[in-house]
Amino acid sequence: MSFRYMGKVVIPSPRAERYTTVCQFCNVGCGYDVYVWPAGEEGGLKPGDHGVVYRIRDTVYERELKPDSTDFTRITVLSHKTGTPWISEAMVVRTIRRDWLKGRNTGEWKEVYVAQIPSPECPINMGNHSIRGGTNGERNWSPWNVAGARRLKFPMVRFGGRLEVVTWDYAIDLVARVVKEVIDRWGVDGPMGKEGHAVFAHRMDHGGGGGGGMIENVTAGLFFFYGVRTAFARIHNRPFFGPENPAIGDAGPGAMNNSLHDLRLADVIVFWGANPYVTGTVMFTEHALSNLIGATVDEKRRWFGGEPVVDTYMIIVDPRKTETVEAARAAARDRVIHLAPEPGTDIVLANAIARVIYERYRSVVDGIIQVYRNATQKGFEWDENAWRLYLEEALEINRKTLDQYLAEAERVTGIPRRDIERVAEILGAPKPGGYPKRVWLMYEKGIIWNQNYRSIYALVDLCIMTGAFRGIPGTGCQRQGGHQEGYAGPEPPPPPWVKERFHLSPWNFAKLKGVELKTYQDYVRLFKEWYSEVYTDGYYNTKWPIADRYMPTTDFRLEGGEGRVLWVHDMDNYKLAPAAHRLKAAVSERSWRLTRYVFAQQFAETVARDSSEKYDTRVLDIPVTTRPTSEEYAKLVLEALEKTGGLFVIVQDIYPTFMVEDAHVVLPAAFNNGEVPDVRMSVHERRFRISDAWLDPPGEAKPDWWIYAMVAKRIVELYEAEGRGEDPVARRFRNAFQPIWDAMERNARDPRVEVENEIFKVYIANADETFARLGVGWEVQYWTPAFKKLDLNILRKFRTVGVVLPLRELNINPDGSVEARGIVNLMEPSLNPQYREEVVIARPDGTIERRIELIDSEKARGYSVSKLKSWPSLWLGYPPYVAELMKDYRYWVLNGRYNEIWQTGYMDPNSEVLIRRWPYAFIQISPEDAQREGLQNGDIVVVYNIHGSVPAIVWISRMVKPGATFLIMAHPYSTGANAVTTPSVEPVAQNPDYKLTRANLRKIGSLKPEVKAILTFKDIKFS
Ligand code: SF4
Repeated sequence: MSFRYMGKVVIPSPRAERYTTVCQFCNVGCGYDVYVWPAGEEGGLKPGDHGVVYRIRDTVYERELKPDSTDFTRITVLSHKTGTPWISEAMVVRTIRRDWLKGRNTGEWKEVYVAQIPSPECPINMGNHSIRGGTNGERNWSPWNVAGARRLKFPMVRFGGRLEVVTWDYAIDLVARVVKEVIDRWGVDGPMGKEGHAVFAHRMDHGGGGGGGMIENVTAGLFFFYGVRTAFARIHNRPFFGPENPAIGDAGPGAMNNSLHDLRLADVIVFWGANPYVTGTVMFTEHALSNLIGATVDEKRRWFGGEPVVDTYMIIVDPRKTETVEAARAAARDRVIHLAPEPGTDIVLANAIARVIYERYRSVVDGIIQVYRNATQKGFEWDENAWRLYLEEALEINRKTLDQYLAEAERVTGIPRRDIERVAEILGAPKPGGYPKRVWLMYEKGIIWNQNYRSIYALVDLCIMTGAFRGIPGTGCQRQGGHQEGYAGPEPPPPPWVKERFHLSPWNFAKLKGVELKTYQDYVRLFKEWYSEVYTDGYYNTKWPIADRYMPTTDFRLEGGEGRVLWVHDMDNYKLAPAAHRLKAAVSERSWRLTRYVFAQQFAETVARDSSEKYDTRVLDIPVTTRPTSEEYAKLVLEALEKTGGLFVIVQDIYPTFMVEDAHVVLPAAFNNGEVPDVRMSVHERRFRISDAWLDPPGEAKPDWWIYAMVAKRIVELYEAEGRGEDPVARRFRNAFQPIWDAMERNARDPRVEVENEIFKVYIANADETFARLGVGWEVQYWTPAFKKLDLNILRKFRTVGVVLPLRELNINPDGSVEARGIVNLMEPSLNPQYREEVVIARPDGTIERRIELIDSEKARGYSVSKLKSWPSLWLGYPPYVAELMKDYRYWVLNGRYNEIWQTGYMDPNSEVLIRRWPYAFIQISPEDAQREGLQNGDIVVVYNIHGSVPAIVWISRMVKPGATFLIMAHPYSTGANAVTTPSVEPVAQNPDYKLTRANLRKIGSLKPEVKAILTFKDIKFS
């Protein structure tokens, strides 16, 4: 039950319990305060009469909130800025929870209210929220709401055609037996014993978005990469397990290197292949727009010294006239430039802008490059040969005149030369006094899913040239992010045929080929060989990414019949995989091969009956009157794996996904929005916080770490029962999970022992020692030695403010206060004598202070970026899968998220309002194309190509140019765009080219007038 349509909400009572968390949705990572109190109680409007209390002194944004700020009687001035946030109906839910008097998840069930309110204390959102985050509250499960009805609550196992509820013991035993035997029978000998490469893992790798954070990740990693030791894993949005932004990592800065503080201070803001109004809303509205309209001028004056403050410009590069363009133009029409290149030609456009800057504003560029050169005196690595290679090979400075170069760029990109020159001027022309502009650039999926490695590198090179990597306030160049981040875990093993796991960057390629990089000629040789072997002779000829050899592309391999177990954790690849129908067809067919073998007898009996006159519906749902034991079931599964080429499918999730259709085992998980504590960070300034637990999971759902720990325990027991307790595989699982099993035992004796905190301390805070003991490499994002003092209870003190990573110092003071110091911009200490450090102090009275200090750079050099390397990005024409489609299919199918529809839409049906607004997947079509195709708003078309087809509702819109459409990426009830994306991946980075596909349209009908009447097909307007 939510409070929608009731006309009023309850205010937290003064005795409400308070928890803090971060939004479950996007990359921005807005902070939320959560209140839980007995149902029926209600707080008053005046401070002290309710439970909403803020204590924050933030000198960075000049904000102070005190307990008496929260006066809700001032109804006309309710404002998140002043500590009286608007509490909407969608933020409060009535549900049930245990009393937790003796510890979490203990005691009597009681009716409670839960309010999840945007946190005015958080420096990211300052109480603001988006349309997604504003509905966090009603996503909490309740016995009376849709979320509660939809959740997976009990383990299930497939008996014939049907998934039926079983006990956890049954499910764990079945899974453990199959996984253990698959390692034993088909494992490959490795340095740490048999490696279970036949177990394929589809697992999340990040925080937010229902995907957990470091605690969940580290246990998934312990299970798959240390216990099973499989190299065959994939991440939710790409068909392999590896980085999403390797180019910016190879260049040096990494994908998250600056802060919202920089965004607020920039002279020029560039969003390239990103639509932040829709996908990173509060970052855009609260920080980017504030800067654009001049609301941060005073902050600029404080940080610029004598340098002039000029009007901010915003440049948006996107083939569609997005909501971001409209919103920015509404704020500052004359200072917003929108470039809409032909899809896939961003490399050409970035290089063309760079070429103009290099020629027209040479003294500015030379000054910027000199900053990088000067830093080499302090150990910074600036690669002069790579820079020259970029100028010669990508910008062709000695090969083509500017006119020739720009004529070609104009032809390929469709962007008029004057627009290219205008953008170059905005970025490159100095400010009065000769100061280079403070340039801040953010890219996201329009680049990442579009010839990833080269597209990102083209932007990195442009950022090097424009000084976005200068590391002074107001500069930066990074990704936007899809979710928050929170990766921790042991490193994955390489596939059995190579010794090392890596992506095929030019630098790794040089090592492989023995190319020594000493002279400029060595670089030229590397450039030629790499482009030829990886691209022209490689992918463009074969359509097979050569990098698969070092980091397997698991979709290709599953479809080719490899793998025997597929364990899917927190994702729905029947919607998310490139060419999703192809993956679905392969997994489904292989899964059912196994099911038919395991239940062969029942199928045989039913088929025999089917020869009777009347059709026997039991052929679709065979009766299984006597369940096999888990041991008998596992035995049949293993026989089937031996004989049929089938696949045993395990799905671990919170809602029934499309993949559940083909699962043999379904494991219900606790949700990371309030049912299990975890830690994760925002993408735009690496702000690290706890997302706490305030509810019990529904039914018998369990935290992901619990599921992995219990299956690992059962695997070890099975080895011990065979007298093989010291088998290297058993030892691996035991060594990895013993600290968790110990903590679980302590928790059973005393529920106040928090297992998650023990996991945090052992595997995250002390990852260096723990993984050294386990004998493997590891990663905890932005780990520093200061982590060793951190735990969940300290993070709780920092509430929604959290700490900025990398954490340089954490001081626990005798007066009980805790002080955290983190680096604001990771380029800054390497290139400048001083750097900005964010200091957050949590006082014993609950007050949090936040400020930025300037610190001597020597103190942070070890934690900052140590190198900067260019690399020439060439556009080679469209990748082969894409080029194929261009012959026969008329329309580009641009695709992406749509604001309130989150990810696969896994949780959107929980909101009645939302699902009424977007009951179907839609496709935007230009008026010209609609006329040609004879389409009206509300018509239903099938979007199709050789890879698949999907129905969608027509929305005629000027947001797309003629020749292009926009199809929503996924919808709660539809595969969306991935029905028509191709299998194309970038051959170095293996990230898919989702953004580059084409299709045709065929009208198949129209919505009924009464349905059309409740929808709107108007374009989005801002004023
Ligand atoms: S902008 Fe992102 S993080 Fe912030 S409230 Fe919206 S969805 Fe949540």
